Amino acid sequence: MNRLIDHPLIGGSLFIDCAWVEGHGERWTALDPANEAPIAELAFADASDVELAVAAARRAVPTLRATQYSERAKLLHGIAAGLRQHASALARLETQDVGKPLREAEIDVADAARVFEYHAELLEHGVLADQYPRLDSDDFTMRVRRVPLGVVALITAWNFPLILAAWKLAPALAAGNAVVMKPSEWASLSTLALAGIVHAAGALRGQFNVVTGTGAEVGASLVNHPQVDKVSFTGSGSVGRQILAASTRDLKRVTLELGGKSPAIVFADADLDAALEWVLMGIFYNAGQVCSATSRLLVERSVHRDFVERLAERANAIRVGAGLDAATEMGPLISAVQCARVRGAIDAAVTAGARLVAGGSHVTGQEQGWFVPPTILDDVPADSDAWRLEIFGPVLCVRAFDGEAQAVADANDSEYGLAAAVFSADAARAERVAAELQAGTVWINCAGPALVQGPWGGFKASGIGRELGHWGIESYSEPQQITRSLGAAPLGWYAGSQRTNPVGA
Ligand code: NAD
Repeated sequence: MNRLIDHPLIGGSLFIDCAWVEGHGERWTALDPANEAPIAELAFADASDVELAVAAARRAVPTLRATQYSERAKLLHGIAAGLRQHASALARLETQDVGKPLREAEIDVADAARVFEYHAELLEHGVLADQYPRLDSDDFTMRVRRVPLGVVALITAWNFPLILAAWKLAPALAAGNAVVMKPSEWASLSTLALAGIVHAAGALRGQFNVVTGTGAEVGASLVNHPQVDKVSFTGSGSVGRQILAASTRDLKRVTLELGGKSPAIVFADADLDAALEWVLMGIFYNAGQVCSATSRLLVERSVHRDFVERLAERANAIRVGAGLDAATEMGPLISAVQCARVRGAIDAAVTAGARLVAGGSHVTGQEQGWFVPPTILDDVPADSDAWRLEIFGPVLCVRAFDGEAQAVADANDSEYGLAAAVFSADAARAERVAAELQAGTVWINCAGPALVQGPWGGFKASGIGRELGHWGIESYSEPQQITRSLGAAPLGWYAGSQRTNPVGA
């Protein structure tokens, strides 16, 4: 085999049936977003490689279906241990591949390990154990068991490659499925390294397969494959809609984690020093390439100008640079394409009438790499693209509001509904506003935490279904009821019996 990647955790461009192989699709050079230097070469899959991966997964299904929960938990603990053992190498790999500061990549690895461990604990606490509903008939007993779906295709985005992989893979394996995963073409490396770790932890043949490649070729082949029972997708709304449309043919199960334009509401009575820190984190973490980034800031008019001025000062002081540099607080964007898109959005916002108060489209003196500075736009027109569309970069759009009702109305005036944040010292008001916000996650006096115990997903155009918590794991299995008759005597329904409704309701 011609080995294209030189990394101790990665043995090839694809991982199929417990073996490293090279794909038959296009060649891809992964570039370091901080300096545009090549870091790895990959031979992507084509449709024939997808065929092999799905077939390997399908062969594993009968064995996996019969595995005990304790065996699955053991594998998940093993993966968590492997991630921790290789944490440092994995964090560096992620930083080189996607550009994020090393301290953020280290958090990603630790979080990913925790996700596997948490799902092992869910199994150990019986989350998928048989249930026995109370019946109002003495004629039957009922048991509800959880049946794995079979083969699941997991398709991820490039912003948190390892975490997104963990969010999907841990519950899919816990529920007893065979997996074919396709990472984003922009960020394949940590998912390949994960394959090595899963293998070392004792995965069975065909249980976990990775096919790298483009969405149009490899992603679409998986989505359209009749032997794939579920697609769990994290990415853009346009591709999410295509996946949903394709799923109607054979009624595949689908989970969609899509984009957002999440609001943060700052009331004048909030602890403004604390709110300032969270608002910065809510938009500049991972250079704003976060689905739930609080990218629309609504500030109560009495404190608006002052708050924005302080934000701008802090944003201008954020140290932008290469992720591997220990001093860096914000890294580059993922690609030249994304960089051009974000720069275009900033320029268009200014043309539409927004006031640029920090940053702009270029980092002064940065010749190489895909850098955009922390940018704040104030008085952004409510009907502009900048206010309404996801930019997916370090760009905070701000507007002032008057009163609670307007804050809620402005926050909800969006096609999206992934997350929202509210800052107030008045606990009753914060709860009242939270209850009105149309978002899958509402943060009170914080912005950003995604806790593994809670359901993650969107209202409205931000998605369908939930990941994490028991909601996530349940979405990788079908509940099956097994109903047993306790009647000793023949039913007699067609023999003149006077009994009514023999099947109960
Ligand atoms: P994208 O939709 O371009 O790609 C996502 C994945 O889908 C990639 O692996 C890609 O190769 C694949 N893909 C592309 N076309 C496909 C097709 N026709 N069939 C099957 N697969 C296909 O998104 P992106 O640019 O990688 O990621 C950014 C988007 O992801 C943003 O909108 C962001 O908000 C969203 N996101 C959402 C969450 C969440 O939890 N809700 C988390 C992270 C990112």
